[in-house]
Amino acid sequence: MEKLYDSIIIGGGVIGCAVARYLSRYNGSFLVLEKHNDVGDETSSANSAIVHSGYDPKPGTKKAIFNVKGNKMMPQVAEELDVPFIKNGSLTVSFSDEEDETLKELMERAKENGVRAELIEHDELLKMEPNLNPEAHKAILCPDAGVISPFNLCVNFMENAMDNGVELRLNSKVEKVEHDGDIFRVTLESGEAFEAKTVVNAAGLYSDEIAAQLDDINYHVVPRKGEYYVLDHFNENWVKHTLFMCPTKVGKGVLVSPTSSLDYIVGPTNEEASKTDTSTEASVLAELKATAAKLVPQIPYFENIRQFSGVRANSSVGDFVIEESKKNPGMFNLACIMSPGLASSPAIGEYVADLVKDKLHLEVNPNFNPRIRKHIRFTKLDRDEYNKIVKENPKYGKVICRCETVTEGEIVDAIHRNCGARTVKGVKKRLRPGFGKCQGTFCQNDVIKILARELNVSPDEINYSDLNTQIMKYDVKGGN
Ligand SMILES: Cc1cc2nc3c(=O)[nH]c(=O)nc-3n(C[C@H](O)[C@H](O)[C@H](O)COP(=O)(O)OP(=O)(O)OC[C@H]3O[C@@H](n4cnc5c(N)ncnc54)[C@H](O)[C@@H]3O)c2cc1C
Repeated sequence: MEKLYDSIIIGGGVIGCAVARYLSRYNGSFLVLEKHNDVGDETSSANSAIVHSGYDPKPGTKKAIFNVKGNKMMPQVAEELDVPFIKNGSLTVSFSDEEDETLKELMERAKENGVRAELIEHDELLKMEPNLNPEAHKAILCPDAGVISPFNLCVNFMENAMDNGVELRLNSKVEKVEHDGDIFRVTLESGEAFEAKTVVNAAGLYSDEIAAQLDDINYHVVPRKGEYYVLDHFNENWVKHTLFMCPTKVGKGVLVSPTSSLDYIVGPTNEEASKTDTSTEASVLAELKATAAKLVPQIPYFENIRQFSGVRANSSVGDFVIEESKKNPGMFNLACIMSPGLASSPAIGEYVADLVKDKLHLEVNPNFNPRIRKHIRFTKLDRDEYNKIVKENPKYGKVICRCETVTEGEIVDAIHRNCGARTVKGVKKRLRPGFGKCQGTFCQNDVIKILARELNVSPDEINYSDLNTQIMKYDVKGGN
């Protein structure tokens, strides 16, 4: 007889991984099915990575409730899961009398949502952010906003879930979900099938399509693309807060922000797109430059190291859909999880795990460990710690990525953890080699060789990301 899982989670984005982590607090059997060769390879790794404070969503909406709670949970989550997180605060800036009025309304919203916010006048604002456009009027400061590594948040949620017993199947695209009134049957594209008492649909951009297999849904995902510039970490003090434009009738404008690795991002645009379109376009990026100049007139684009885009799973009903199916109880649809989904992820994960726990009357897992094993980060060590660690393991003395200062020891560790890296992109997301100025030109071959050695395969079998994306076709010189 096939194993009957307590719950199958479809989708290993930040939402599915968060649900998995919080479900692992209970005794049960849980399986995550992810179609890619790693977790977090879609929207969860291509976004602004802001842990929004929650001042902005309409009070009473799911977005407001989960964002505010997620923001409060994030510092502890980041600490337990060893995720880079900086509480740098956000400033939402006005440039006209009309926008000053909007700020007043947003202050009211912040109060209703229970979010700390303070109005900052022109002179103080320019002292806080000297590179801001001097035509700025005022700003709302939300000190609880922050920036996080979206890659590490997602991966480490999953690592923690697996440490606590959750199973993960990569390269497992779900094609069909069926319900016989008692048991759910989840069939992959490959034909392989799994059975469960409950299903959590966390399929991101495709969550509406999965939900529609079992329900007559009244919502759908509206894909909207956002393009960005990434600037290298050239100066820690260039911009300290996340700078937002004041929202207008036309849109939310763009942001300029440090990232958790002290790079800077400028973006995102907001364009109609298909669910799979993550291209960037020169003409759109030129418009982005013009828009962002209103916020920060002198943006050093000569520090630009990359452009990227992500696709939002916007909601046709204007809010997150987080509900148990009425027609097929036991199916939990987490659909249209647009921004602020990343910021909301711990709160959504905890809430949905509790829905499943209540449904199945699961007991608390007495062995649940909320922490993952701490990473050794070369750049965070003082000289004495460094010398001690290198003595114990000389691989920590060999720098592989010079731009981001990542050692061989860190890469080997990232490969051998639960939810470990098995691709070049997987190593890049976890540790940043390839994210720096040279974009992997110098370190990529070494990363491939380390992956091959540690996974006991040949270098030409190492994929960039998904299956069949090998970089090395054959070995020219023999040996490696
Ligand atoms: C431009 C942009 C900016 C954003 N900025 C922010 C921000 O600053 N702060 C914030 O809080 N939020 C932000 N967001 C929103 C945030 O990124 C999302 O809310 C969040 O990543 C959604 O996570 P998810 O797990 O629902 O979706 P995803 O990350 O897309 O994960 C879904 C997963 O399901 C898998 N999947 C899909 N179909 C199947 C299938 N059939 N079988 C198996 N697996 C499947 C996919 O491969 C994917 O890994 C932004 C989004 C964008 C695009």
